[in-house]
Amino acid sequence: MNSKISQYLTKHQPSTPCLIVDLDIVDHNYQQLSQTLPFADIYYAIKANPALPILKRLVAMNAFFDAASWEEVQLCLDAGAPPSHISFGNTVKKVSAIQAASQANVEMYVFDSIEEMQKIAKHAPGAKVYCRLTVDNLGADWPLSGKFGTTTEHAIELLLEAQKSGLNPYGVSFHVGSQQTDPKAYSLAIEKAALVFRALAEQNIHLQMINLGGGFPIHYREDIPKLNEFETEIQKSLHHHFNNNFPRIILEPGRAIVGNAGVISTEVILSSKRGKENGPRWVYLDIGRFGGLAETEGEAIRYQITTEYDGSDTDPVILAGPSCDGVDVLYQKSNYQLPLQLSAGDRVALLSTGAYVSTYCSTSFNGFPPLEEHYI
Ligand SMILES: *Cc1c(COP(=O)(O)O)cnc(C)c1O
Repeated sequence: MNSKISQYLTKHQPSTPCLIVDLDIVDHNYQQLSQTLPFADIYYAIKANPALPILKRLVAMNAFFDAASWEEVQLCLDAGAPPSHISFGNTVKKVSAIQAASQANVEMYVFDSIEEMQKIAKHAPGAKVYCRLTVDNLGADWPLSGKFGTTTEHAIELLLEAQKSGLNPYGVSFHVGSQQTDPKAYSLAIEKAALVFRALAEQNIHLQMINLGGGFPIHYREDIPKLNEFETEIQKSLHHHFNNNFPRIILEPGRAIVGNAGVISTEVILSSKRGKENGPRWVYLDIGRFGGLAETEGEAIRYQITTEYDGSDTDPVILAGPSCDGVDVLYQKSNYQLPLQLSAGDRVALLSTGAYVSTYCSTSFNGFPPLEEHYI
């Protein structure tokens, strides 16, 4: 565990479950991304963790923001982001949200259907719009395909229609799936984007922007490719399709900005083989699926777990949450082992839990209060 966080835990012994986020790591991640991919503007996908201290750090570094609702737009504005730095990046927006964003001078909106495009044309006339493409999400631990995006053929028609409706057809976007471990996913998607650029250029519409979405992976239990490998693949593909005539490139990282900045401290409530000599042992923590660990669904995201007994003998465990719901089981198939000594009352740390945890937690299921958050 990062020493700043472990010192904080030792010194303050905050009640569990809680999330501790090291804001310096947020700064570091942002800077590393912008240095490794200097040709891109970084729009932080705020759904990953919309806490004010994080947004303020990013505003101070002149970051851009990807918001999915009027409420998220407001959070960015409250943190001091200029409206020109906010993209309304949800293909499904309430009319009232489009109106409010337009009044607040948010300039850029996404769509993937004619109906949504018409809503934008009516309630944010003249706005810059981009169309989301469906792309392969193979290689992603948390796919985002199916629900969003459209084909290249349809995108071409929609962007033509957008222009006829008085909007500014600005570009295309995609999302290769979250925790994407295959850099090629980006080049395959860029190829699709280039096809839309060329088809529209023939109709005298010159798109200006490709939004490569998020997806950049972080280290959990398994090794991941280095950021450089993603950069190389993306550069190669852009050069191949656009020569030196690069469009504006946007990234929307969420997980890669905040994931490894956070640690959850949780308490073991019960450790028991429940009468079965040969196990496995069940370890129940005071945080579970409903306490914020939604990405353990299907055991998709497998957090690294540390204890004060690390290095001693272990046995296989099933990890579960504290609630009375049968689906509140975190890991059953993913070969987790924990020290034999670990028992009720011990603290356990779940590493790299800064993204997609704090806001997923329920308000008081079974009476458990929402996760406490500490930004240090
Ligand atoms: C969730 C989301 C992101 C962030 O994805 P990460 O995998 O966390 O980087 C970016 N863009 C859009 C449109 C999203 O929905």
